[in-house]
Amino acid sequence: MAELTGVGIGLGVAQGPVARIADPLPAPDKTASAQAPDAEKARFRTAVDAVARELESRGARAGGTAQDVLEAQAMMAEDPELADQVDERIDAGYTAEWSVVDAFAAFRDLLTEAGGYLGERAADLDDVAQRVLAQLRGVAAPGLPEPGHPYVLVARDLAPADTALLDLDLVLAVVTSDGGPTSHTAILAREKGITAIVGVSGAASLVDGETVIVDAETGTVITSPSETELEKAAAKARARRAAAAAPLSAGALADGTAVPLLANLGSPAGAAEAVAKGAEGVGLFRTEFLFLSADTAPSVAEQQAAYTQLLEAFPGRKVVVRALDAGADKPLSFLNDSEEENPALGVRGIRALRASEQILRDQLTALAAADAVTDADLWVMAPMVATVEETEYFTAIVHEHGLKTAGVMIETPAAALIADRVLARTEFASIGTNDLTQYTMAADRLLGSVADLQSPWHPAVLSLIGSVGSAGAELAKPVGICGEAAADPLLAVVLVGLGATSLSMAPSALADVRASLTRYTLDDARRIAAAALAASDAAGARAAARAAAEKENQS
Ligand code: PEP
Ligand code: MG
Repeated sequence: MAELTGVGIGLGVAQGPVARIADPLPAPDKTASAQAPDAEKARFRTAVDAVARELESRGARAGGTAQDVLEAQAMMAEDPELADQVDERIDAGYTAEWSVVDAFAAFRDLLTEAGGYLGERAADLDDVAQRVLAQLRGVAAPGLPEPGHPYVLVARDLAPADTALLDLDLVLAVVTSDGGPTSHTAILAREKGITAIVGVSGAASLVDGETVIVDAETGTVITSPSETELEKAAAKARARRAAAAAPLSAGALADGTAVPLLANLGSPAGAAEAVAKGAEGVGLFRTEFLFLSADTAPSVAEQQAAYTQLLEAFPGRKVVVRALDAGADKPLSFLNDSEEENPALGVRGIRALRASEQILRDQLTALAAADAVTDADLWVMAPMVATVEETEYFTAIVHEHGLKTAGVMIETPAAALIADRVLARTEFASIGTNDLTQYTMAADRLLGSVADLQSPWHPAVLSLIGSVGSAGAELAKPVGICGEAAADPLLAVVLVGLGATSLSMAPSALADVRASLTRYTLDDARRIAAAALAASDAAGARAAARAAAEKENQS
């Protein structure tokens, strides 16, 4: 057997034969067109229009995040700047085919150079170029393989148009050589619960038909597996299915210690699924969805309607809403300065809200109005807090609007290191492990090339979480976790051992975490956490926690 590694998305494990996605269409030659430029341009416009409409209709069929992604891709196809670039080449006498491929490639290089979020959109642009080229040639765009049996899909990267409509009965797992944790393959795989590993540098060596095991939890693709390994993987998959089918009980440890399991939601539309999966409330409601596609902030009335819809889904339950978190990975033209050299370290989160305080006041007004007509237990928290002064500011302004429970997210090492003083000034803390990891490890969360540093398992990150947990225990204030870390079943136990009082995650992770918690007492969790904390690196911490957990399970 051999092992390839990458970034696992979700916790699934699957096994099956590899089927690779077809190679890109052959590149057109740089030849002069026999047609007049206007005729070539008309061919190009017709092709782009067909591609954009096709992407939109796939989006409409898929719904959800996939629809947003595909609509964005359709807009990309019809980008006027890109069209100008294609026209320029056609005017120089070249065919529409060559002009499209060359102009799109130039644009792609710009995106790749920009890196980060934009860099990860480069693959989307390549896909659009392939689709337009196929349309111009009157052939089918390269799409999913059709081996006639279930398969492990292997590709350089997946086009959103393909990921959106994957047949989950046929695609056992997805392995890509490109793409980081925020690529569209990753986002859509996470949403659809597809077992996936992205950024597997050796994926190109996987051969059609060979059997592999894909373990997203460990981020490994095992080639030439032994019978024992295949059986072990099958047992793991069965255990996951059993956890998913288990009754929806409240989150608790083996000794009965309650650990409420809450949902991370990005829009009210996800509430029903969260409830169905047993979410005991909402631990992080990201409000950016209301703002991201707008040129101006939404009105108080629009916001109130959305918040009311959310709160109505959780009567009597805790719902933690985060004030708008604009900047860095979530830039907003009307709030952020696009000229900042380091937006992750710039005017973002609470800093951006203070700089445009009316936006915060409108949001709190809308939340208070929604709170008044519903009976959920509404908590409101600030993103990206770094100081005690910001904590005092936010807590005061939330109370001023008649909202009773204010808190802060702990996403900066600064806030974690003085968590006792921060918590003394507010009612609760919620640790955002995605950003806390990014800032502790100085590793951009959007950058695939530093993905190995972005592990919340790193003892430096765990140690900061531990100090927040201790401060919470001392002051009897709740400390939730709402970053991706809470969705890892073993890490969830560690987090509780470090003092987390509730865990919030994507609804798809609730069953695995619920099952994992029931295996350990609070004392076990503390011992497992201590083992992880004492390690020297993230891999060591995970291994130490696993060894300690196995010992607890045997005793
Ligand atoms: C986090 O940073 O962990 C978090 C939950 O916030 P977001 O991922 O929205 O930045
Ligand atoms: Mg964050």
